[in-house]
Amino acid sequence: MVPVLNLVHLYPGLLNLYGDRGNIITLKQRMAWRNMELRVHQVGLGEDFPDVPVDLLFMGGDQDREQVVVVDDLRERLAGRLSALVDDGVPFLAVCGSYQLLQRYYHPARGPDLIGLGIFDAHTVHPGPDVARCVGNIVARWDLGTIVGFENHGGRTYLEGDTAPLARVVAGFGNNGQDGTEGARVHNVFGTYIHGSLLPKNPAFADLLLRLALDRRFRDIELSPLDDSLEEAARRSAIARTAS
Ligand code: GLN
Repeated sequence: MVPVLNLVHLYPGLLNLYGDRGNIITLKQRMAWRNMELRVHQVGLGEDFPDVPVDLLFMGGDQDREQVVVVDDLRERLAGRLSALVDDGVPFLAVCGSYQLLQRYYHPARGPDLIGLGIFDAHTVHPGPDVARCVGNIVARWDLGTIVGFENHGGRTYLEGDTAPLARVVAGFGNNGQDGTEGARVHNVFGTYIHGSLLPKNPAFADLLLRLALDRRFRDIELSPLDDSLEEAARRSAIARTAS
């Protein structure tokens, strides 16, 4: 029987401005290359979770305007379900605007604070529309080596308490352009500012998410190695150009 994982893609019709769906396409393809299947279930505004075991969660980035549309539905309707899945170790990748909505609050460029889910003990402040955004290529170092990508955010994130960053910035802005941190990780929840999309450019990150999900559901399934030589060459080039 072909091993199947279910991924829930949250607010695909709203949080989708920066091509982050490429992360899902990468996960799906890296499962297919191993003769396994990733089924993608979309959950939009006001929509319920599918009646399947949830193995992975994903939420992409977008502008303040779309975050305002999503935040109340996310907090009032989905917070309990997401908290239970996170506590049960389900891997969750949240990019940029979604990363911000999983924090305690996001103070947008205009208007009132958006109260997030508090999964990350952190907060984000957008300094206003007249302040330069954090835009450009980024290189950061993490447990599995180096992450490369592209960032485009106005908000500056400040980790609180003992919240662990996802990575340390080598070149680029990361959380706030000041403290050298990028993203955050708690349990198996990964928050990051890195678009690109992130996972096609960082195959080890993609396989970490798949391994966490497979180990949680099947325990004994091996993740066979893939030929990532093309991506590795592109990463070396991105690192040389960005971090030189
Ligand atoms: N609107 C948020 C900001 O500007 C998030 C942007 C994004 O998702 N790329 O910080």
